[in-house]
Amino acid sequence: MSDLICRFAPSPNGFLHLGHAYSALMNARFSRDHDGLLLLRIENIDRERSKPRFEQALREDLAWLGLDWPRPERRQSDFFGAYRTILDGLVGRGLAYPCFCTRGAIAAGIADKPDWPRDPDGSPLYSGSCRELSPRRRAERLAAGEKFTLRLDMARALAEVAAPLSYREFFEGETAQAMTARPDLWGDVVIGRRDVPASYHLACVHDDFAQGITDVLRGLDLEPATGLHVLLQKLFGYPTPDYRHHRLVLDAEGKKLAKSKSSIPLRELRASGVTARRVKDELSERMDVRW
Ligand code: GLU
Repeated sequence: MSDLICRFAPSPNGFLHLGHAYSALMNARFSRDHDGLLLLRIENIDRERSKPRFEQALREDLAWLGLDWPRPERRQSDFFGAYRTILDGLVGRGLAYPCFCTRGAIAAGIADKPDWPRDPDGSPLYSGSCRELSPRRRAERLAAGEKFTLRLDMARALAEVAAPLSYREFFEGETAQAMTARPDLWGDVVIGRRDVPASYHLACVHDDFAQGITDVLRGLDLEPATGLHVLLQKLFGYPTPDYRHHRLVLDAEGKKLAKSKSSIPLRELRASGVTARRVKDELSERMDVRW
Protein backbone atom coordinates (compact mmCIF):
# COMPACT_ATOMS: atom_id res chain seq x y z
CA MET A 1 0.00 0.00 0.00
CA SER A 2 1.40 3.41 -0.99
CA ASP A 3 0.55 6.63 0.87
CA LEU A 4 -1.51 7.96 -2.05
CA ILE A 5 -5.06 9.01 -1.15
CA CYS A 6 -7.60 10.45 -3.58
CA ARG A 7 -11.31 11.13 -3.31
CA PHE A 8 -14.53 11.25 -5.26
CA ALA A 9 -16.64 14.14 -3.98
CA PRO A 10 -20.11 14.33 -5.54
CA SER A 11 -22.77 16.86 -4.52
CA PRO A 12 -26.10 15.12 -3.81
CA ASN A 13 -28.21 17.66 -5.65
CA GLY A 14 -29.17 15.47 -8.58
CA PHE A 15 -28.67 11.95 -9.92
CA LEU A 16 -25.22 10.88 -11.13
CA HIS A 17 -24.73 10.67 -14.89
CA LEU A 18 -22.01 9.41 -17.24
CA GLY A 19 -19.74 12.36 -16.40
CA HIS A 20 -19.77 11.42 -12.73
CA ALA A 21 -19.17 7.78 -13.62
CA TYR A 22 -16.09 8.82 -15.62
CA SER A 23 -14.71 10.88 -12.73
CA ALA A 24 -15.36 8.12 -10.18
CA LEU A 25 -13.83 5.45 -12.43
CA MET A 26 -10.79 7.62 -13.19
CA ASN A 27 -10.23 7.96 -9.45
CA ALA A 28 -10.71 4.22 -8.93
CA ARG A 29 -8.24 3.38 -11.69
CA PHE A 30 -5.69 5.89 -10.46
CA SER A 31 -5.79 4.71 -6.85
CA ARG A 32 -5.64 1.07 -7.94
CA ASP A 33 -2.72 1.65 -10.31
CA HIS A 34 -0.77 3.37 -7.54
CA ASP A 35 -1.84 1.02 -4.77
CA GLY A 36 -3.48 3.89 -2.93
CA LEU A 37 -6.85 4.62 -1.32
CA LEU A 38 -9.97 6.14 -2.82
CA LEU A 39 -12.33 7.84 -0.35
CA LEU A 40 -15.90 9.07 -0.75
CA ARG A 41 -16.95 12.56 0.30
CA ILE A 42 -20.53 13.81 0.14
CA GLU A 43 -20.44 17.55 -0.60
CA ASN A 44 -23.80 18.50 0.84
CA ILE A 45 -23.29 21.99 2.27
CA ASP A 46 -26.08 23.34 0.05
CA ARG A 47 -28.98 22.77 2.44
CA GLU A 48 -31.63 23.53 -0.19
CA ARG A 49 -30.39 21.52 -3.13
CA SER A 50 -28.91 18.51 -1.29
CA LYS A 51 -31.48 15.76 -0.79
CA PRO A 52 -31.24 12.44 1.10
CA ARG A 53 -32.73 10.62 -1.90
CA PHE A 54 -29.87 11.83 -4.13
CA GLU A 55 -27.37 10.78 -1.48
CA GLN A 56 -28.82 7.30 -1.25
CA ALA A 57 -28.99 7.07 -5.03
CA LEU A 58 -25.35 8.01 -5.50
CA ARG A 59 -24.22 5.33 -3.02
CA GLU A 60 -26.22 2.74 -4.96
CA ASP A 61 -24.96 3.97 -8.35
CA LEU A 62 -21.33 3.89 -7.22
CA ALA A 63 -21.74 0.39 -5.74
CA TRP A 64 -23.28 -0.70 -9.05
CA LEU A 65 -20.20 0.62 -10.85
CA GLY A 66 -18.16 -1.64 -8.58
CA LEU A 67 -16.75 0.99 -6.23
CA ASP A 68 -16.33 0.42 -2.52
CA TRP A 69 -14.69 2.51 0.14
CA PRO A 70 -11.93 1.51 2.55
CA ARG A 71 -12.97 4.16 5.08
CA PRO A 72 -16.35 5.59 6.13
CA GLU A 73 -17.63 8.34 3.85
CA ARG A 74 -17.25 11.96 4.97
CA ARG A 75 -20.41 14.09 4.88
CA GLN A 76 -19.72 17.80 4.89
CA SER A 77 -22.88 18.60 6.84
CA ASP A 78 -21.27 16.85 9.85
CA PHE A 79 -18.45 19.40 9.91
CA PHE A 80 -20.05 22.85 10.05
CA GLY A 81 -18.42 23.40 13.45
CA ALA A 82 -14.94 22.85 11.98
CA TYR A 83 -15.65 25.15 9.03
CA ARG A 84 -16.88 27.84 11.41
CA THR A 85 -13.65 27.60 13.42
CA ILE A 86 -11.43 28.15 10.40
CA LEU A 87 -13.67 30.95 9.10
CA ASP A 88 -13.48 32.67 12.49
CA GLY A 89 -9.72 32.28 12.31
CA LEU A 90 -9.61 34.18 9.00
CA VAL A 91 -11.86 36.94 10.36
CA GLY A 92 -9.64 37.18 13.45
CA ARG A 93 -6.58 37.61 11.23
CA GLY A 94 -8.31 40.39 9.28
CA LEU A 95 -8.42 38.23 6.13
CA ALA A 96 -12.21 37.94 5.86
CA TYR A 97 -15.06 40.36 6.45
CA PRO A 98 -18.85 40.30 6.58
CA CYS A 99 -20.62 41.46 3.44
CA PHE A 100 -24.24 42.56 3.70
CA CYS A 101 -24.82 43.00 -0.05
CA THR A 102 -27.40 40.71 -1.62
CA ARG A 103 -26.76 39.13 -5.00
CA GLY A 104 -29.54 41.29 -6.42
CA ALA A 105 -27.95 44.50 -5.10
CA ILE A 106 -24.58 43.51 -6.56
CA ALA A 107 -26.17 42.78 -9.95
CA ALA A 108 -28.08 46.09 -9.86
CA GLY A 109 -24.88 47.95 -9.00
CA ILE A 110 -23.21 46.86 -12.22
CA ALA A 111 -26.31 46.82 -14.44
CA ASP A 112 -24.99 49.73 -16.52
CA LYS A 113 -21.41 48.37 -16.62
CA PRO A 114 -21.36 45.55 -19.18
CA ASP A 115 -17.56 45.26 -18.98
CA TRP A 116 -17.44 44.75 -15.23
CA PRO A 117 -14.88 41.95 -14.56
CA ARG A 118 -16.15 38.50 -13.63
CA ASP A 119 -14.66 35.53 -11.77
CA PRO A 120 -14.02 32.15 -13.46
CA ASP A 121 -17.57 31.06 -12.54
CA GLY A 122 -18.99 34.11 -14.30
CA SER A 123 -20.05 36.00 -11.16
CA PRO A 124 -19.21 39.71 -11.08
CA LEU A 125 -16.13 40.50 -8.99
CA TYR A 126 -17.15 42.13 -5.74
CA SER A 127 -16.59 45.88 -5.59
CA GLY A 128 -15.47 45.68 -1.97
CA SER A 129 -17.95 48.18 -0.55
CA CYS A 130 -18.50 46.21 2.69
CA ARG A 131 -14.72 45.86 3.08
CA GLU A 132 -14.61 49.64 3.48
CA LEU A 133 -17.29 49.85 6.19
CA SER A 134 -16.11 51.55 9.35
CA PRO A 135 -15.73 49.19 12.33
CA ARG A 136 -18.58 51.02 14.02
CA ARG A 137 -20.99 50.77 11.09
CA ARG A 138 -20.10 47.10 10.64
CA ALA A 139 -20.73 46.38 14.33
CA GLU A 140 -24.08 48.18 14.16
CA ARG A 141 -25.25 46.17 11.18
CA LEU A 142 -24.15 42.91 12.80
CA ALA A 143 -25.89 43.88 16.04
CA ALA A 144 -29.07 44.65 14.06
CA GLY A 145 -29.05 41.04 12.90
CA GLU A 146 -28.54 41.83 9.19
CA LYS A 147 -27.73 38.74 7.18
CA PHE A 148 -24.24 38.52 5.72
CA THR A 149 -21.79 36.38 3.80
CA LEU A 150 -18.09 36.24 4.66
CA ARG A 151 -15.74 37.34 1.93
CA LEU A 152 -12.01 36.78 1.64
CA ASP A 153 -10.03 40.02 1.55
CA MET A 154 -8.05 38.95 -1.48
CA ALA A 155 -5.45 41.75 -1.40
CA ARG A 156 -4.62 41.08 2.25
CA ALA A 157 -4.61 37.32 1.77
CA LEU A 158 -2.18 37.65 -1.15
CA ALA A 159 0.02 39.99 0.88
CA GLU A 160 0.08 37.47 3.73
CA VAL A 161 1.38 34.62 1.57
CA ALA A 162 3.73 37.00 -0.28
CA ALA A 163 5.47 34.65 -2.75
CA PRO A 164 3.75 33.66 -6.02
CA LEU A 165 1.87 30.42 -5.44
CA SER A 166 2.40 27.33 -7.51
CA TYR A 167 1.20 23.74 -7.65
CA ARG A 168 1.75 20.58 -9.66
CA GLU A 169 -0.77 19.66 -12.37
CA PHE A 170 -0.72 16.36 -14.25
CA PHE A 171 -4.01 16.51 -16.17
CA GLU A 172 -4.52 12.89 -17.31
CA GLY A 173 -0.81 12.17 -17.76
CA GLU A 174 2.16 11.20 -15.62
CA THR A 175 4.28 14.31 -16.16
CA ALA A 176 4.02 17.15 -13.66
CA GLN A 177 3.57 20.68 -14.95
CA ALA A 178 4.42 23.58 -12.67
CA MET A 179 1.39 25.88 -12.56
CA THR A 180 1.15 29.41 -11.24
CA ALA A 181 -1.91 29.81 -9.04
CA ARG A 182 -4.16 32.77 -9.91
CA PRO A 183 -6.42 33.24 -6.86
CA ASP A 184 -6.62 36.95 -7.71
CA LEU A 185 -9.04 36.07 -10.54
CA TRP A 186 -11.68 35.42 -7.85
CA GLY A 187 -11.50 38.81 -6.15
CA ASP A 188 -13.08 39.03 -2.70
CA VAL A 189 -14.78 35.65 -3.12
CA VAL A 190 -17.50 34.41 -0.72
CA ILE A 191 -16.00 31.83 1.65
CA GLY A 192 -18.86 31.68 4.14
CA ARG A 193 -22.42 31.62 2.84
CA ARG A 194 -25.43 33.34 4.33
CA ASP A 195 -27.03 30.11 5.50
CA VAL A 196 -24.01 27.91 6.33
CA PRO A 197 -20.53 28.71 7.68
CA ALA A 198 -18.76 27.42 4.56
CA SER A 199 -18.56 27.66 0.79
CA TYR A 200 -17.59 24.95 -1.68
CA HIS A 201 -14.02 26.30 -1.78
CA LEU A 202 -13.55 26.44 1.98
CA ALA A 203 -15.12 23.06 2.73
CA CYS A 204 -13.29 21.37 -0.14
CA VAL A 205 -9.88 22.66 0.95
CA HIS A 206 -10.47 21.79 4.59
CA ASP A 207 -11.75 18.31 3.78
CA ASP A 208 -8.94 17.50 1.36
CA PHE A 209 -6.64 18.24 4.30
CA ALA A 210 -8.76 16.38 6.88
CA GLN A 211 -8.97 13.31 4.64
CA GLY A 212 -5.23 13.40 3.92
CA ILE A 213 -5.76 13.74 0.17
CA THR A 214 -2.45 13.59 -1.74
CA ASP A 215 -3.94 13.74 -5.26
CA VAL A 216 -7.07 15.60 -6.34
CA LEU A 217 -8.44 14.03 -9.50
CA ARG A 218 -11.53 15.88 -10.75
CA GLY A 219 -13.08 17.44 -13.83
CA LEU A 220 -11.45 20.23 -15.84
CA ASP A 221 -14.39 22.48 -15.00
CA LEU A 222 -12.86 22.83 -11.52
CA GLU A 223 -9.39 23.68 -12.74
CA PRO A 224 -9.91 27.48 -12.43
CA ALA A 225 -10.84 27.00 -8.75
CA THR A 226 -7.48 25.39 -8.02
CA GLY A 227 -5.54 28.66 -7.68
CA LEU A 228 -7.98 29.79 -5.00
CA HIS A 229 -7.72 26.43 -3.24
CA VAL A 230 -3.92 26.69 -3.20
CA LEU A 231 -4.18 30.14 -1.59
CA LEU A 232 -6.57 28.84 1.09
CA GLN A 233 -4.22 25.91 1.78
CA LYS A 234 -1.36 28.35 2.35
CA LEU A 235 -3.47 30.55 4.63
CA PHE A 236 -4.50 27.53 6.73
CA GLY A 237 -1.04 25.94 6.72
CA TYR A 238 -2.29 22.86 4.84
CA PRO A 239 -0.11 21.02 2.30
CA THR A 240 -1.02 21.41 -1.38
CA PRO A 241 -1.95 18.09 -3.04
CA ASP A 242 -1.07 17.25 -6.63
CA TYR A 243 -3.84 18.06 -9.10
CA ARG A 244 -5.04 15.91 -11.98
CA HIS A 245 -7.87 17.53 -13.90
CA HIS A 246 -9.50 15.20 -16.37
CA ARG A 247 -11.41 15.93 -19.58
CA LEU A 248 -15.17 16.21 -19.32
CA VAL A 249 -17.60 13.81 -20.94
CA LEU A 250 -19.50 16.00 -23.40
CA ASP A 251 -22.80 15.51 -25.17
CA ALA A 252 -23.23 15.35 -28.95
CA GLU A 253 -23.25 19.16 -29.14
CA GLY A 254 -20.04 19.40 -27.12
CA LYS A 255 -21.78 20.70 -23.99
CA LYS A 256 -20.99 19.67 -20.43
CA LEU A 257 -23.34 16.85 -19.39
CA ALA A 258 -24.55 18.62 -16.25
CA LYS A 259 -25.97 21.38 -18.41
CA SER A 260 -27.38 19.06 -21.01
CA LYS A 261 -30.68 17.33 -21.51
CA SER A 262 -28.90 14.19 -22.67
CA SER A 263 -27.38 13.56 -19.25
CA ILE A 264 -29.38 10.41 -18.56
CA PRO A 265 -29.03 9.40 -14.90
CA LEU A 266 -27.05 6.21 -14.31
CA ARG A 267 -30.01 4.79 -12.42
CA GLU A 268 -32.23 5.19 -15.46
CA LEU A 269 -29.67 3.41 -17.61
CA ARG A 270 -29.59 0.64 -15.02
CA ALA A 271 -33.40 0.41 -14.87
CA SER A 272 -33.52 0.04 -18.63
CA GLY A 273 -31.22 -2.98 -18.45
CA VAL A 274 -27.84 -1.37 -19.24
CA THR A 275 -25.04 -3.10 -17.32
CA ALA A 276 -22.18 -1.43 -15.48
CA ARG A 277 -19.84 -3.23 -17.91
CA ARG A 278 -21.63 -1.51 -20.81
CA VAL A 279 -21.23 1.91 -19.14
CA LYS A 280 -17.50 1.28 -18.68
CA ASP A 281 -17.13 0.13 -22.28
CA GLU A 282 -19.00 3.18 -23.55
CA LEU A 283 -16.77 5.52 -21.55
CA SER A 284 -13.70 3.62 -22.59
CA GLU A 285 -14.62 4.15 -26.24
CA ARG A 286 -15.76 7.77 -25.95
CA MET A 287 -12.82 8.91 -23.81
CA ASP A 288 -10.17 6.53 -25.15
CA VAL A 289 -9.19 5.13 -21.77
CA ARG A 290 -8.78 1.57 -20.51
CA TRP A 291 -10.14 0.58 -17.14
N1 GLU B 1 -18.68 18.44 -5.40
C1 GLU B 1 -18.08 18.87 -6.62
C2 GLU B 1 -18.95 18.46 -7.79
O1 GLU B 1 -19.78 17.56 -7.65
C3 GLU B 1 -16.70 18.30 -6.83
C4 GLU B 1 -15.70 19.02 -6.04
C5 GLU B 1 -14.26 18.57 -6.21
O2 GLU B 1 -13.99 17.46 -6.71
O3 GLU B 1 -13.40 19.35 -5.79
O4 GLU B 1 -18.82 19.03 -8.85
